[in-house]
Amino acid sequence: MHYIGMSALNMAGWLVWDRGFVLVSIALGIVLSAAALAEHRRKPALIPWRPALLFTLAICGLHFTAMAAAGIYPDPQLAVPAEAIGSGTLTVAVVAMALIILSISFAMVLFDRKLARNAAEETQRIKAFADAAIEGLVVTDGDRVVDANLSFLRLAGYESLEALPSALADLLPDLDPLADGVATECRLTGAAGRDCDVEVLLRPLHWRGAERQVLAVRDISERKEAAARIAHLAYHDALTGLPNRAVFNDHLARAVIRAADAREPLAVLCVDLDGFKAVNDIHGHPAGDELLIEVAHRLRAVVRGDELVARLGGDEFAIVQQGGSQPGHAGLLSERIVGALAEPFAVGVQTARISASIGVAVFPANADNPLDLVRNADMALYRAKAEGRGLTRFYEAAMDEALRQRRQLEADLRLALANGELRLHYQPLAELGSGAIIGFEALLRWTHPQLGAISPEMFVRLAEESGLIVKLGEWVLREACGEAARWTPALKLSVNLSPLQFLQDDLVGAIERVLGDTGLDPARLELEVTEGLLIKDAPGALAILQRLKALGVQISMDDFGTGYSSLSYFRMFPFDKVKIDRSFVGDMIANPQAMAIIRSVIGLGHGLGVPVVAEGVETAAQLEALRAEGCDQVQGYLIARPNPIGHFEGVVMDRSPEAEAPTAKVVPIRRRA
Ligand code: C2E
Ligand code: CA
Ligand code: CA
Repeated sequence: MHYIGMSALNMAGWLVWDRGFVLVSIALGIVLSAAALAEHRRKPALIPWRPALLFTLAICGLHFTAMAAAGIYPDPQLAVPAEAIGSGTLTVAVVAMALIILSISFAMVLFDRKLARNAAEETQRIKAFADAAIEGLVVTDGDRVVDANLSFLRLAGYESLEALPSALADLLPDLDPLADGVATECRLTGAAGRDCDVEVLLRPLHWRGAERQVLAVRDISERKEAAARIAHLAYHDALTGLPNRAVFNDHLARAVIRAADAREPLAVLCVDLDGFKAVNDIHGHPAGDELLIEVAHRLRAVVRGDELVARLGGDEFAIVQQGGSQPGHAGLLSERIVGALAEPFAVGVQTARISASIGVAVFPANADNPLDLVRNADMALYRAKAEGRGLTRFYEAAMDEALRQRRQLEADLRLALANGELRLHYQPLAELGSGAIIGFEALLRWTHPQLGAISPEMFVRLAEESGLIVKLGEWVLREACGEAARWTPALKLSVNLSPLQFLQDDLVGAIERVLGDTGLDPARLELEVTEGLLIKDAPGALAILQRLKALGVQISMDDFGTGYSSLSYFRMFPFDKVKIDRSFVGDMIANPQAMAIIRSVIGLGHGLGVPVVAEGVETAAQLEALRAEGCDQVQGYLIARPNPIGHFEGVVMDRSPEAEAPTAKVVPIRRRA
C-alpha cells in the first residue's frame, strides 16, 4: 500500500529509493505482522491488544523505514501535469475514504464483539453445564487431556485446568483401553497423593471439528469402603472386631489339615466368661459391651501371632493353637488368659471383676476332625463351669459319657409326665409363735424307672435347660391347686415358679385358668420366686408379678440371701413373704455371720411389714434361736419332711427320726375325696 501510494506521487522532481532501507522496511512489515497474527492465534482474546500493538509496529516499521528509503530530488524541468488531482479534491477524497473505512471497521468491530459475546456466552453455558455434572468429565485427544469440568478438578484435587497434568496416563495410570459405554474401575492419581478409586465411562465426542473422547469419572471410594465394611462384617464380630464363628470354623478346618500333614498337635480352647451376665444386669448393656471389647483386647494380647482368637457369640470366645507340645502349651495359654482376665475391668466409672472358664480339646488325641474338636472343647468347658469359676478343664472321654447320660435323662424326663413318674410331696410351714401349721409347700418328685429318685435340684435344672419346665410347672400347679382345694381347714399352698416360666407366653392366663378349673381361692395360693427372676429381666417379670398379684395371689421371695439379695427388690415389688435360704439356717449356730444375715433379714422383713420364713430348720437349737430373733414362720425337717399329702391326713406332726422333739401343733387335716 505504501509503495503503491508513493508511486502515485506527481511532483516536479525525482523519487530515488535506497535499496537497503526498502528491504528492511519490507522485512519489518512481514515479520511484525506475522508475529501479530501468530500472537492472535495463540491466545485469542476479547480485546487483542498484543496482536494490535504488533500490527501497529509492523505498519509503522514499514512506513517509517520506507520513508527513510525515499529521497526526493527536485527537477525544475519536470512539471506537474494538469490532470493531476488537486490538493483540495485529494483532501476531500482521502477524508471520505478514511471515514468510509473507519465506519466499516467500526461496524465490523461491533459485529465481531457481538459474535464474540455470543460465543463466550455459549462457552459459559456449556461450561456451567459441565461443571454442574456431579461426575467428573474429562475431554481427551488420545492420551492428551484437553478439558475437564469442575467436578473432575475437585475430585483430582487441582485448582485449575492449567494445573492439571496434560497426559491422561498421569491421572489414570492403570486405565485400560475403553470401549464406548463400557464402565471400568481404576485408580485416580490426584494432586498431592489424593488418590481414590473411580469408575470410568467413555463416549466419543465430536468437538470443535475434531474427534475427541469424553471420560465420565465417578468417585466410587465410598461404595468400595461400604463393600469392604460389609465384607469385614461378614467375617468379623461387629462389637469386638474379632474374627467370627465363620472365620473360626474355616481357620480350624485348614489348621486341622495342616496339623495332620505335619503330624503336629493342635489345641482348641473354648473360653467363657464367668459373671458376665451380672455385669450386664447390674451395670447395663453398654457397660457389658465395653467389657467384651476389653476382653477381646486382652485375649489378643496374650495369644501369639499364629494363634487365632474368635468370638463365637455372647461371652464365648475360642482360640486355635497350633503346634507346640499339647496339652502343655494349651495349659500355659489358659493360665495366661486367666491371668489377663483376672485384672479388674473398668465399666463406666466403676470397676468389675470377672473370670474365665476354659475347656480344652487337643487334636489328634481327643478328636480327629474340627467338629468333634469344638464339641469336645465345649464339653470340657461345660465341666469347668459346673465345677466353679475360673477353672480350666481338659477334655476326657468320661465327659462324653456324662453328656450322653444327661441327654438320656432329658429324654426320660420328657416321658416322665406321661408315664406317671412325677408326684408331688408337701412340706408344712408352721407359725413359730403358736406352732400351728398354716400351709404346705408343694415339691416335685421324680422316680426314674431304672435310676430311682432323682434330686429335684438336678431335674429341675434339666427341665429349665430344655424348656420342659413350662409344661412341668403347669402340671405342678394344676395338681397342687386341685389337691389344696380339697383341704379342710383351708390351709395355704406354696408353689415354686422357675424364672423360665415367666418367659412363657401367658403365665398369668395359665394360672388364672388353673385357679378357675380347680376352684382354689386365689388368696390361698402363694407363688415362690427367686431373686434370679428380678435380676434377669426385671421390667418384664415385674409386670407379670403385678398382674399375678392382681389375681389375688400372694408372692414370696424364695431363697433370699443366695443371689444379690438387694434391698431394691423390695422397692421394685411388694413381696408378701421372705424366705431365708436354708444354707443360712444350717450355719446360724456355728457361724456368727450367718446369724447376722438372718437377723438383718428378719429386721428388714419387719421394717417392711413382711413376714419372714426360715427354711431348713433341723434342730431345736435353730428353732429357739429363730424364735429369739423374732422369726415369723419356720419350715424344715424338724417340723416335718416333705411327704405325699396322705402322710399328713388326719394329723400334722413331725415323724422324722432326726427330729429331736415334735414341735408342731397337731392340726387335723381332712381331705375331701
Ligand atoms: P426350695 O424351693 O428351696 O425347696 C426347699 C427345699 O429344701 C426342698 O428340697 C426341701 O426338701 C428341702 N428342705 C426342707 N426342709 C429341709 C431341712 O430341714 N433340711 C434340708 N437340708 N433340706 C430341707 P427339694 O425338694 O430337693 O427341692 C429342691 C429345689 O428344687 C427347691 O428348692 C426348688 O427350688 C426346686 N423345686 C422343687 N419342686 C419344684 C417345682 O415344682 N417347681 C420348681 N420350679 N422348682 C421346684
Ligand atoms: Ca421354695
Ligand atoms: Ca427355698
